[in-house]
Amino acid sequence: MDTGSPLTAPLTENGYGKEAGIFNAQKQNQLAVKLSTINERKAKLKRLKAAIQANEKAILDALKSDLRKSAFEAAVFEVYFIHAEIDFAIKNLSVWMTPQPVPSNLMNLFTSSYIHYEPKGVCLIIAPWNYPFQLLMAPLISAIAAGNCCILKPSELAPATSAAVAKLIREIFKENEIAVVEGDADVSTRLLALPFNHIFFTGSTRIGKIVMSEAAKHLASVTLELGGKSPVVVDVKADLKKAAAKIAWGKLANAGQTCIAPDYVFVHESQEDKFLELLKDSIEKLYYPGGQINKENYGKIVSDGHFNRLRKLVADAVSKGSEVKTGGLFEDGDRTIHPTVLTGLKADALIMQEEIFGPLLPVVTYKNIREVIDYINAHDKPLAMYIFSNSNRNVKNIIRHTSAGGTCVNDVMIHISNPNLSFGGVNTSGVGGSHGFHGFKVFSHERSVMHQSRWLDIGKIAYPPYTGKGWVLKLLKKLM
Ligand code: NAD
Repeated sequence: MDTGSPLTAPLTENGYGKEAGIFNAQKQNQLAVKLSTINERKAKLKRLKAAIQANEKAILDALKSDLRKSAFEAAVFEVYFIHAEIDFAIKNLSVWMTPQPVPSNLMNLFTSSYIHYEPKGVCLIIAPWNYPFQLLMAPLISAIAAGNCCILKPSELAPATSAAVAKLIREIFKENEIAVVEGDADVSTRLLALPFNHIFFTGSTRIGKIVMSEAAKHLASVTLELGGKSPVVVDVKADLKKAAAKIAWGKLANAGQTCIAPDYVFVHESQEDKFLELLKDSIEKLYYPGGQINKENYGKIVSDGHFNRLRKLVADAVSKGSEVKTGGLFEDGDRTIHPTVLTGLKADALIMQEEIFGPLLPVVTYKNIREVIDYINAHDKPLAMYIFSNSNRNVKNIIRHTSAGGTCVNDVMIHISNPNLSFGGVNTSGVGGSHGFHGFKVFSHERSVMHQSRWLDIGKIAYPPYTGKGWVLKLLKKLM
């Protein structure tokens, strides 16, 4: 064998060896895992749920340490979300695993056909830091349900959660089935050199492109859950008060560090002042009880790098004529950025060009909805798009004329909570979907199986010699 290959490289801490050793062990174990029954897979999911329940405090503490997530937000968005996803998979697994019969057509009239869901094999899950528990666990549930072995690579920017996940997984799974490999981009790079059967990556569009090109070397299939700018359209027929309250909540949960957070808002020019006033009221109600910011309920920015990046976005916008309407305060000591609303944005402001991923909200005005549609269509397809309107006609019009990974009408972000909906982006915001059956499917190969009838001798009709078989062609021509 070629000793330059990661699979045969020496076992060292920093070389390919450690990752390749786990990969090889999983490869050898994959057939046994693939053959696991419905009940065995359900038992694994139950074991995972029980371990999460037993470790709940450690997980919440880790999320507080990494992101200052409040116990409430961490429980709802990270832990209970996962319990719901596990329960849904357990409830539906026998249906998902049952081969799906498909009809036959004229050319194969006497055959029977079905789709058999078989596991992809050995899979890699790479996660980001913003929902560092949920974004590892949700794809893991789908991978287990589909019968795969799996290596998880948490984000190095959420080290406490990374350690908590590694401990939890080691308690309940053998490394040759589910393993956690902690570390940074170098570890990811070494993992990506291995011939995984499927790679499920959640993170930025920039790194998603690297992951896809590395996967191409082995023709591994990929699911890419990426980012981008998710616009909110506040239609003239919207309930402004409700829209402002929901947008403020969605933008500021986890201090704006949410892939489907509203990135910026379009509001009709005649309603801008009213909307800004309502937005300010909503922000104060949510985070400034008694006039002071309540940091118990408000997250911090994950790193100095991101804190400074966000500060630059505001400085750049202001230098180009934008006005800070609310907030604008940056507390370096604990990386707190007060909820900040900006108006009067120029198209060349950086904040209108890159994903914000922080508690800064540009509000942009429009005269005619056509301008909004044209603007959205001239930019990358968003991961999420939000429309506030009491006119179904206007909602339909906006949906029909634009494209986005997902859309929520008269609310933000909550479309992620329905496991019957595929969650994912489109082009730069992602490739493929996840959650529920959609997640099970991405970790499965849809194997097409056809059984020929035992009594039909097709050769008599369709094989050479063709002399005397003109009637077959005539019959087919008539029927088609
Ligand atoms: P990131 O792309 O920087 O990192 C994601 C993961 O990739 C991390 O585990 C990191 O260690 C690894 N990585 C970094 N450099 C790499 C390289 N060169 N090769 C291989 N792997 C590498 O993203 P992030 O900053 O952790 O997360 C924020 C981004 O994730 C935002 O763009 C956000 O929108 C997106 N996101 C998307 C979703 C979704 O479901 N679509 C969910 C959460 C976050």
